[in-house]
Amino acid sequence: KALDKVSSEVDAAGDPRLIVAQLLDELSKATARASMLEANFAATSQELDSIRDSLKAAEERSNTDSLTSLANRHAMDEFLRLAQIDAMEKYEPLSILLIDIDHFKKFNDDYGHQVGDQVLRLVAKVLQDSVRDIDLAARFGGEELIAVLPGADLMACTAVAERIRRRIAEARLTRRATGKDIGSITVSIGVAQFRLAESAEAMIERCDRGLYQAKRMGR
Ligand code: GH3
Ligand code: MG
Ligand code: MG
Repeated sequence: KALDKVSSEVDAAGDPRLIVAQLLDELSKATARASMLEANFAATSQELDSIRDSLKAAEERSNTDSLTSLANRHAMDEFLRLAQIDAMEKYEPLSILLIDIDHFKKFNDDYGHQVGDQVLRLVAKVLQDSVRDIDLAARFGGEELIAVLPGADLMACTAVAERIRRRIAEARLTRRATGKDIGSITVSIGVAQFRLAESAEAMIERCDRGLYQAKRMGR
């Protein structure tokens, strides 16, 4: 617009110094607008970055169990669903293991809920440390933890379960407040290998039956 105005003034044979001054004035205004836009753009993209970060954090929180920091039930359901599809497509085995702490209620009663929570976190850590990066360890609910092991057959899964069982039984627990030894805990574990076209619910149900068989057979 300014250029149009100037060119019409040139046509009207105005004072060239005045025209140059006007042009310079417009140019400096345009430069100021450009740097303001640039600053706005930087602020906006910074804002976008922070929105992206908090979205990622929120997503992570919505998939994580806050007590154990393992994946939560919701994340596990999704992981297992995709793992089942993957197993069928690739004709590969897929197994799960379900862990339940033995006599946990008594443990809570004897030492309090906070010590119980500490035990739950310990079991979660052993579980997480015992599985591979491609596996998913999750809190199934209450004092029950689960792991999904893509590519593992029943034998491999049982070996992992046995290693977890042993590591937990061998861990010595000391009470943080008093530093006193509070003995050891044991867990029972059920294992199940995916059967073609079986639902996730049915697979977990079979695994749960294995778990309760372990309980019945002496924990
Ligand atoms: P079993 O050997 O048959 O598994 O006996 P159990 O006492 O472990 O089984 P039960 O299902 O009767 O009790 C589970 C207990 O786990 C009861 C509940 O208070 C406790 N529990 C569940 N979630 C939590 C938790 O987040 N923190 C703590 N401290 N305890 C929990
Ligand atoms: Mg239980
Ligand atoms: Mg229990």
